[in-house]
Amino acid sequence: MAIKLTGGEIYDPAHQVDGKKQDLYIVGGKITHELPDNEKVTETHDLNGCIVMAGAIDLHTHIGGGKVNIARTMMLEDEHAHPHDGNHICRSGNGHVVPSTFSTGYRYAEMGYTACFEPAVLPVNARQAHMEMADTPMVDKGGYVLLGNDDFLLGMMQKNVSQAAINDYVAWILDASQCIGIKVVNAGGVHAFKYNQRRLDVDESGPAGSTPREIITKLSRAVHELGVTHPLHVHASNLGIPGNFKSTLATMAAADGLPIHLTHIQFHSYGTEGDYKFSSAACEIAEAINNTPNVTADVGQIMFGQTITTSGDTMMQYFGHEHAHPKKWTVMDIECEMGCGVIPFKYRDKSFVNALQWAIGLEIFLQVNDPWRVFLTTDHPNGAPFTSYPHLIKLLMNRSFRNDAFNIIHEDAQKMSNLASMDREYSLYEIAIMTRAAPARILGLTSQGHLGEGASANITVYRKQDDIEQMFAKPSLVFKNGTLIVKDGEVIKVVKGVTHVVKPEYDKGVEKSLSKYFDDYQTISLPNFKISTDEMIECIGSDVEVHPCTPK
Ligand SMILES: [Zn+2]
Repeated sequence: MAIKLTGGEIYDPAHQVDGKKQDLYIVGGKITHELPDNEKVTETHDLNGCIVMAGAIDLHTHIGGGKVNIARTMMLEDEHAHPHDGNHICRSGNGHVVPSTFSTGYRYAEMGYTACFEPAVLPVNARQAHMEMADTPMVDKGGYVLLGNDDFLLGMMQKNVSQAAINDYVAWILDASQCIGIKVVNAGGVHAFKYNQRRLDVDESGPAGSTPREIITKLSRAVHELGVTHPLHVHASNLGIPGNFKSTLATMAAADGLPIHLTHIQFHSYGTEGDYKFSSAACEIAEAINNTPNVTADVGQIMFGQTITTSGDTMMQYFGHEHAHPKKWTVMDIECEMGCGVIPFKYRDKSFVNALQWAIGLEIFLQVNDPWRVFLTTDHPNGAPFTSYPHLIKLLMNRSFRNDAFNIIHEDAQKMSNLASMDREYSLYEIAIMTRAAPARILGLTSQGHLGEGASANITVYRKQDDIEQMFAKPSLVFKNGTLIVKDGEVIKVVKGVTHVVKPEYDKGVEKSLSKYFDDYQTISLPNFKISTDEMIECIGSDVEVHPCTPK
């Protein structure tokens, strides 16, 4: 049994295919370019007038874990204002800013996404995060587990243990938490906040004696030496603070030439020039990315309107609580590991700062030359809900649309931005890189993000339209592992995704000291902390796909 997709224009940057008409076949959930002799076509889709891409991959979206549920609880107005009725296919749900789990899966699939990665899994909270993600249908998932503010790592660094010992701990955490990457949020800063410190710059020592630079150097080396494909995923120091671009540049340098991914870099690209002492440093940041091949970044574009910010960065969320809209906020410490802060926020185009943040994000997109190293995100829901992606794609692809939007933002912000002078318009090929091929490559998902022979049949088909936003908002067909799940922008079949993980090798002896640490300080014992693959499948409800690591 084969499905034939005929006459579509293929955008497959992993194989340098740029809009060429080519037939594809789906056999056994995989893509093939020739119909095997023993197969018969049982279903044909005429895709003349259509664009064909792999299923999109969101490498940074907050869709699971405690802070997302806190956000849902705090945004009851939003939940009530956006009810989603169930039908004979989909379950009911609600929410625009932080949709409920089912709705999150449906909305992503309806936009042609087939995989989403949660970037802030607290080790102690990993079980709940995976349960929530397993409850999110349609898409594959994966998590980045948080280190760099935990007492155990900082204690190891205080004792000056070897890099090999740190590598064992990092590998153990990945294994125990069933994650695919390591994330660090405001390295050392969240820990320092617990000691009443309100700032920690890259070369300042925190209460445990380590600087953010030292933490990032150790962790990026650990990830690299363990052979984990996804580079250390870094939320840099001083988020949102005017002048923070210098900390961002120092953070890039802290990786010592090893791969490093800077997340929501828009929030870390601010200068101090002008009457408001707040300016764009997008040019400096984009130039640094262009000149530093080991650096990748996702933008974290903001969009105007109501949203909610959810972050592990208690230090900076505490700083931002005065701007809460509506007026309610949460900041908390979590065990000996981390913290989190949740603050509703409304970005306004007539606010100088918000307007300039909007422009800075777009300036970064347009000034980073290589679309393989810059990723399309709004840091959902921090910059905007993920459902704003089609609008963002239109801003990148259509200069006059972008300039019209620019002309109505705060006038002083217009004067502080050179966005209007930027001619660049992203092509469909470049959008396919940013949203498919590049995220798959940086995550090590070899059978996703492309349409090559043997790839998983995650395929999105868009009917060509003049309005690119409309086109990306409502694909005409979406296949997940060969099953047609969305037709004309609506879910027609509900499927489950898998959880992508890595399991690097490590010396099991690391559990000796961890076991004592757990007994002395944690609320959970070490054996109960670990999530086994059997538990993922039988209790949490998600199959696990392990991706190989090549130790260096
Ligand atoms: Zn984030």
